[in-house]
Amino acid sequence: MRAVVTGGAGFLGSHLTDRLLREGWDVLIIDNLITGSTDNISHHSGNERLKFIKQDVTEYLFVDGEVDFIFHFASPASPIDFIRMPIPVLKVGALGTHKALGLAKAKNAKFMLASTSEVYGDPLVSPQPETYWGNVNPIGPRGVYDEAKRYAEAMTMAYHHFHGLDTRIVRFFNTYGPRMRLDDGRVVPNFLAQALTGKPITIYGDGSQTRSFGYVEDIVEGVWRLANADFHEPVNIGTEDEHTVLEFAKIVLEVTGSKSAIEFMPALPDDPKQRRPDLTRNQQVLNKWSPNVILKDGLKRTADYFQGRLDLRASVS
Ligand code: UDP
Repeated sequence: MRAVVTGGAGFLGSHLTDRLLREGWDVLIIDNLITGSTDNISHHSGNERLKFIKQDVTEYLFVDGEVDFIFHFASPASPIDFIRMPIPVLKVGALGTHKALGLAKAKNAKFMLASTSEVYGDPLVSPQPETYWGNVNPIGPRGVYDEAKRYAEAMTMAYHHFHGLDTRIVRFFNTYGPRMRLDDGRVVPNFLAQALTGKPITIYGDGSQTRSFGYVEDIVEGVWRLANADFHEPVNIGTEDEHTVLEFAKIVLEVTGSKSAIEFMPALPDDPKQRRPDLTRNQQVLNKWSPNVILKDGLKRTADYFQGRLDLRASVS
């Protein structure tokens, strides 16, 4: 089996690549490294089954030979990226998805779109089932990501219905683990880096907003099961382990043994107030997938990874 993984040098894409290589697949990564890094795949150096092309997937994709599966995982995914690079975010969701689908059609390959719980916007129902259409502000700061992914889902379903392409759509909820960027701005790297360096933990708003966190290896197991399932509508993958951001800050302090203070900052515009997946469909389609890594263990592993990055940063500066 041979897969193309767009965004394969990113956080989720590189963990998926690890899994595919472990399953005996060949992998071709296409990534422009705007948020990904070759550090995330350097442990495969010398492995003939992994190839890497540095390219923006919004440009025409030239790939020789047969391809069995395309995983379209390329996209910046942090809310600060939506402010820093709104047009690349829109382009990779729209034009990049079109190019990746076109490649899948040309190669007669299966296709999986990495979508997101952001398609639910600031949801008015909780937990969120896949049948919920969402509450998105198209012109707000997160609109570039939310609408690009909603468009990407529409495009994927159109290729499925019109061209008969064998497609999958996964809607990821908050996922964390090693290889997140230290400066990515999301809550897990921010809080862990702040806790590990004794800086104040920055809570946006009053911290009553909720998220549910899934450890990356568990989430990739869900992706693998979906790749092997025969199901074309979107499937949520995430955990039901919902916490307020304030609770989460306290868990981070406990896990790291940090004495950092907690500092309340202005709330972010359009920040979803609640987020937790309804896993009913997930359980039907993914053969009773369930996460193995509890939050405190996953955070400990992630903290060890960030400590390593911080030590490296200190040693070169
Ligand atoms: N958040 C926070 N402090 C930070 C970073 C994030 O309070 O330093 C909050 C953010 O406002 C949001 C939640 O944590 O309510 C999760 O934010 P993240 O950026 O990880 O991603 P999101 O789930 O919003 O896409």
